[in-house]
Amino acid sequence: MIINHGVRGSTPNPSQNYLFFGGNTPCVEIKTQKYQLIFDCGSGFSKVNFSNDLETILFISHFHHDHIQGLAFNNYDTKISKKITLTSAHSDKTNTFKHLSTYYSNPYFPVNFIEIINKFDFLDFEQVVNNFEDLNISSIDLNHPGNCSGYSITSNKKKFCYLLDNEYEDVQEKKLIDFCDNSETIIWDGMFLDSELSDKKGWGHSSIEQGITLADKIDVKNFLISHHSPSRDDQEIKILEKTISNNKVKFASENEVIEF
Ligand SMILES: [Zn+2]
Ligand SMILES: [Zn+2]
Repeated sequence: MIINHGVRGSTPNPSQNYLFFGGNTPCVEIKTQKYQLIFDCGSGFSKVNFSNDLETILFISHFHHDHIQGLAFNNYDTKISKKITLTSAHSDKTNTFKHLSTYYSNPYFPVNFIEIINKFDFLDFEQVVNNFEDLNISSIDLNHPGNCSGYSITSNKKKFCYLLDNEYEDVQEKKLIDFCDNSETIIWDGMFLDSELSDKKGWGHSSIEQGITLADKIDVKNFLISHHSPSRDDQEIKILEKTISNNKVKFASENEVIEF
């Protein structure tokens, strides 16, 4: 089961006409028989309920604020008795700890973050790959200012890919197709439209149309365009949705549950 807790890019937008697709920044949760896997902790992370029965792993794509701003705002059910594994292919465990501690420190954050960070076991990405072999985890370097890591997980022969914060370039095509072909579900960064890209060169995001073109070239069951622009309201997304002819491609919406 896949739950989209946040599908908005860059900054939350809780305005009335953004609530159909949702205003929270990125967080995706996957539950398998053994694992609870969480990708990024934007503001949607507050809705994650930690499981005591499943092994929980939090993957961070990169440290831009919209992907980590929710980490301190989960109520972390006090009954939770285990440590949560936290990892990032973007940085080793020492730097991951450093980046998060810096973000959640004076003068940017008022509360001592150590209590929250103590709930986590920081591991290098390679350690996670080796420790959880049955998950078949891999990462891909994406094109984004300061870099970003995409992830793929294969569980019970079903593949899930998380590809947010990537500025698509033609030279990436083969690498991306190899990485995400034969997927059950792919989450794609469709922050912009092709018509907006010329003004946004170097901002590190792809277009909706680039996603549709990629989806046409691969075998995928659900291709979900996410990281919606914080200025694209529900009506605009619904109009865009009607123009998509590939029925595997949809706009991600918050709280939707997808079979996995
Ligand atoms: Zn982002
Ligand atoms: Zn980013």
